[in-house]
Amino acid sequence: MLSTWVTAVFFKFLKSRLQTSQLFSAQKSTGTGRLGSGQSCSLPSAIAISSVVSVLLLCLAYLGTFQAMEVGVFDLLTRMSTGRFGPNTSTQANDSPVVIVAITEADIKAQQQWPLSDQVFAQLLDQLQTYSPSVVGLDIYRDVPHEPGSAALAQQLGYENVVTIKKLGLQGDLEVLPPPNVPEQRVGFNDFVIDPDGVIRRNFMFAALGNQRFYSFSLRLSEQFLAQKGIAITPERDAIVLGDTRFERITAHAGGYQTIDAEGYQILMRYFASGDLARVLTLSQVLSGDFDPEWIREKIVLIGTTAPSEKDLFYTPFNAAKEQVVMAPGVVIHAQLIRQMLSAVLDQRLLLRVWPQAGEWAWAWAWGVTGGLIIWRFTHPRSVLIALTAGFAALWIITGALFVAAVWIPFALPTIAFGLSGISVISYKEFRRTFYDAITGLPNRTLLMQNLEKLLNQPSRLPSSTVAVILLDIDKFKAFNESFGLQAGEHLLRLTAERLRQSLPPEAKLAHITGDEFVVLMGAIARPEDAVGWAKVLSQKLSEPVELGSQKMFPTVSTGIAYSASHAAVSYSDNPPGRRGISAEDLLRNAQTAVSRAKERGRRGHCEVFATDMRAQMSYRVGLEADLRSALERKELVLYYQPMICLRTMTLSGFEALVRWQHPQKGLILPGQFISIAEDTGLIIPIGQWVLETACIQLQRWHGLFAQQAPFVSVNLSGRQFAQPDLVEYIAHILAKTGLKHSALKLELTESVVMDKVEESIKVLLRLKALRLKIGIDDFGTGYSSLSYLHRFPIDTLKIDRSFVVGMGSPGSTDELVKTIVALGHNLGMDVVAEGIETAAQSQRLTDLRCEYGQGYFFSRPVPALAAEALLADEPDWGESEG
Ligand code: C2E
Ligand code: MG
Ligand code: MG
Repeated sequence: MLSTWVTAVFFKFLKSRLQTSQLFSAQKSTGTGRLGSGQSCSLPSAIAISSVVSVLLLCLAYLGTFQAMEVGVFDLLTRMSTGRFGPNTSTQANDSPVVIVAITEADIKAQQQWPLSDQVFAQLLDQLQTYSPSVVGLDIYRDVPHEPGSAALAQQLGYENVVTIKKLGLQGDLEVLPPPNVPEQRVGFNDFVIDPDGVIRRNFMFAALGNQRFYSFSLRLSEQFLAQKGIAITPERDAIVLGDTRFERITAHAGGYQTIDAEGYQILMRYFASGDLARVLTLSQVLSGDFDPEWIREKIVLIGTTAPSEKDLFYTPFNAAKEQVVMAPGVVIHAQLIRQMLSAVLDQRLLLRVWPQAGEWAWAWAWGVTGGLIIWRFTHPRSVLIALTAGFAALWIITGALFVAAVWIPFALPTIAFGLSGISVISYKEFRRTFYDAITGLPNRTLLMQNLEKLLNQPSRLPSSTVAVILLDIDKFKAFNESFGLQAGEHLLRLTAERLRQSLPPEAKLAHITGDEFVVLMGAIARPEDAVGWAKVLSQKLSEPVELGSQKMFPTVSTGIAYSASHAAVSYSDNPPGRRGISAEDLLRNAQTAVSRAKERGRRGHCEVFATDMRAQMSYRVGLEADLRSALERKELVLYYQPMICLRTMTLSGFEALVRWQHPQKGLILPGQFISIAEDTGLIIPIGQWVLETACIQLQRWHGLFAQQAPFVSVNLSGRQFAQPDLVEYIAHILAKTGLKHSALKLELTESVVMDKVEESIKVLLRLKALRLKIGIDDFGTGYSSLSYLHRFPIDTLKIDRSFVVGMGSPGSTDELVKTIVALGHNLGMDVVAEGIETAAQSQRLTDLRCEYGQGYFFSRPVPALAAEALLADEPDWGESEG
């Protein structure tokens, strides 16, 4: 179940990551990309989450939760290391000091009785003794006589090198006594410790009860065998020492064991492959003397039954292996135990060791944190997959290598900690992604809406209080992004978030809902003016300069405020009763409408409070959009021409072509109202083509009529037009079609249009220049032009924005700025146009500054073609008044 859940969460994560990376690349191409970068989870959070998960798992492990898995891994490692990689695999079984005399099914049949009579065993022991075995162990109960031959057997059992068994009666079984008259030091218990799953993985060496010590059968036999080699056994408090080798007893939480009954003196089993274990003879073989006597000499001979009908069978780690489904008879297990003890003492074969408990915990914790860190560090699904797979593989290899070197450490616990910490960090990231903005770390729109909904549902403490939503929108954020790149854009967003956090009213909540929109939620304010006051404070804070490398920027924000209560009690959907009368969705929409209005009013720190009629204006705009689609077809667009005057000679030099829309119901509509709609809908492409063609045809006509003056025409190009792949071809086509002199056409582009993708822009501009037409930068000074690029653009004209011209001559005037721009243009070999000249003083000042051209209401408003033609025919005195 756990694994299904883990897989489900992981795939959900992969899916969301893939979507995010697609979204990111899509956004990147439109220049507003901001998702996908930034961390949705900090490094300390990742470490803390993985640590908590790991510690919880450690607690579960302490209760034994993963024990079944751990011992499963033990079995697998035992099979793998014993089968192919295990030590001593080259030793042949005939090198083994242990020989098994197996009583097989065939033997029982041959003897025709069961239990076998004492006579048979007396005969067997007698026969064996003739070949001088080191010690003989009889793994058959003989607590009661089985006539005939009891006397003969008693005599055989009297020999010093014969060891017999008894049963301690562990695990609820009944006790079985040793054969009578065999002294204690030649009796060992044959009980095994069996794991809860029935498998033998531990070796029970001896048990102590008060002063009494009970040796296991295998230990008794090993004791006798080693005694003949002068090696003694010394039992200690926590170990048993055979010669120089300490057999450390295991604890209840040793290795992968999480909680076991570690009573008595137990060590872990390090199994031998069956081929190395012991030579096996059968009862009939020994009785008939059909074997090499050398096979018995100085060996430990174990007599026991291997017949399945005897049910003296046990599970070992090998049982799960396909080829060895049979269970191991008790006598084989005893052989394993003896072999393990002797090889440790005589061949220095390593015993299976474990790490101290603290080491195992640290190990599991470290893997947990690693899993968390991998997910924290990598965001691309492929990298995550690779890193996780590498992590699992490394854990498996280390565990396996240690096992081969005879150290058993937990595997399931660190694996689960590794995976689960990763999953937890993914989940946390998902949570952050769902409710928080990746760049600023602020609550996102989803969380904001939940908070707002809650706030609106709360009964208000003050009877006339209201919830206020302040929406702050960074002006020209898109242009900023396009000019300085995404990183700078993100920096600006983070800085904005930080500044808002610092100056926020105490109980207000902050959110970042879209690219450039931040929201401040104020619950229960008594006077709406308070919200306006705060909006001003925040907007002022946000207009503090931003440093970008060596440059200083002065960002501005437009602010919209909407209230929940009667100040703007408009509702656009049916609200449930008992609420504050407006839904969260509508309230935010109101604030957005107010911001749109603030932007229309010229951005730059404008603040608007939502009013009902704004909504009407919004729908007006929607209506316009629908009408604009058919405006071209219905020939409702007209081109006006505004004269551009040479300031030195005060003569008419050219015109700027400005589009207007003659709406059948609404009258003449200015481009400010519909160009942005045309941009948004893509209609700007056909409209722009129409403008260009009309202007060229018109100019060609005037060149024919007024060959002397030969005016030029400036045509505005929007960003979307500039990005058209066939722009150059199209313009060349129109020039060819109309026959207009190429140098009479000037294209006006705003800074932000050319600053987006500088290198590509330069290429397009050079191709346009190759057509020998002119290029001007419109509204210069209002975008975020990077001056360092300016000289690389093939530009003929800088057009100073109206806002600088208007500000001339007044206190705190823009005189210096205008002077600088004119000088900059001249230094770069460009001519300069000043637009928006409204007074004679402005005209004079610009003439003094050697600005080449002037345009503005002072000279003439934009006029229809016929009126423009009249101006050409009958040129007025431009220096005197409006033309
Ligand atoms: P723009 O290219 O900066 O054009 C100058 C705008 O300033 C014109 O507004 C013009 O009427 C106005 N103006 C000129 N002198 C004065 C003055 O002395 N005082 C004041 N207050 N305003 C003055 P208009 O015609 O409303 O156009 C607004 C903008 O719409 C243009 O700004 C241009 O960006 C865009 N636009 C106009 N026609 C087209 C077009 O055919 N294609 C594209 N893409 N954009 C256009
Ligand atoms: Mg223009
Ligand atoms: Mg302009």
